[in-house]
Amino acid sequence: MTYLIFNIKVRLLAYESLRLVQNPGSVLPPDVAYALPGLPASINAVGYSGIWKLPIMLNTKKQNILELDRKELITWLDDQGIEPYRADQILKWIYLRQADRFDRMTDIAKDIRPLLDDHFTISRLQIEDIETSKDGSRKYLFRLEDGKTIESVLIPERDHYTLCTSSQVGCAQDCRFCLTARGGFQRNLTKGEIVSQVRDVKNDLQDSMPLSNLVFMGMGEPLANYKNLLDAIEVITDSSLGLGFAGRRVTVSTAGLVSRLADLGRDTRVNLAVSLNATDNATRSRLMPINRKFPIEKLLKACQNFPLRGGRRITFEYVLLKDVNDSAKDAGRLARLLRPIKSKINLIPFNSHEGCQYQRPDEDTILQFQKILIDNNYTVMIRQSKGQDISAACGQLAAGHRAEGKGHGEKA
Ligand code: SAH
Repeated sequence: MTYLIFNIKVRLLAYESLRLVQNPGSVLPPDVAYALPGLPASINAVGYSGIWKLPIMLNTKKQNILELDRKELITWLDDQGIEPYRADQILKWIYLRQADRFDRMTDIAKDIRPLLDDHFTISRLQIEDIETSKDGSRKYLFRLEDGKTIESVLIPERDHYTLCTSSQVGCAQDCRFCLTARGGFQRNLTKGEIVSQVRDVKNDLQDSMPLSNLVFMGMGEPLANYKNLLDAIEVITDSSLGLGFAGRRVTVSTAGLVSRLADLGRDTRVNLAVSLNATDNATRSRLMPINRKFPIEKLLKACQNFPLRGGRRITFEYVLLKDVNDSAKDAGRLARLLRPIKSKINLIPFNSHEGCQYQRPDEDTILQFQKILIDNNYTVMIRQSKGQDISAACGQLAAGHRAEGKGHGEKA
């Protein structure tokens, strides 16, 4: 009987679709939409908006529930006649309890669970590979639904883990020293794909040391994928219905997308890191094309205006490249440039990758550079990039290479 009704509904829908194709612009009568309650919302949507949603209608694939925010979930539930408080229950199952199936959600009414299952998946990223470094950091290679790949790096610290998270597949910034730039830009990650890196790695952790810190320093320019980044941060930092990270333990690193800095300061409570990497515009424009649009003065002005909560500082990252930006003069200029900004400095000695023209300065030069900054009263870390033996260090991420048979391991 159920099958028969379903069959009739599908036929009716097929007929209406044909009618729509023949009469573009017309809409399905609302009664047709209401006549199809048993079908997924993606199909029913056509009833309301006619020909323009036709491609969606033909795509009956379930939706990944991680792509929805709380409001959207409540709206969907409401359309099904289900009370809004169910949304919070579902979200808790997904993010706090790491549920993979709706039928395990024991406090959700039994008749709602199959309905959810008909419409949604609770997707995880496919773990293609995990490489572990001698220093304990772990590089996750994730395969996305469209076959593309991204990487996240889990870094053990003294009492917690930090996850270096990707925001895009590839990157459009074209920084000359960065391996991710090589493959060009492929696409933005969705909100669900950003959140899933964190949710899935957390789920995969075997020991009791917590994953409490996040840095958006993986593949991509986070501020160039602003909306999805923001939606992801909202879930990641939601302590009652999300992943519960403290805002002060999340850091967004940017190549200097000045047009978004004020937005980030207004919309979130995360830390800001800025990849400065040079102290004069000619050098910076050569290394980082974004500098032609947003030169150093504009970037630093925007940093000065960035709201800093509770004694926080902006981290300035500085990739040290031999004979390019590593002179004592550069260090002095850097000290002067950052003077008006509450800042700390991360020096990142260049991590080499095959075919790159740049080199890492020798140890003395690195220490001398650091000393000049310390003498100018800056807090200066030399970031000993972890995971170099598995090409997981800063700027070495370039997913997709492995899929094409050029594994990172081979290049290290
Ligand atoms: N697009 C963002 C985040 C990704 S890059 C940004 O530019 O900040 C994260 C950090 O790695 C940046 O500071 C970048 O300058 C640095 N980096 C890139 N390639 C590197 C390399 N080969 N060696 C050392 N650091 C590198």
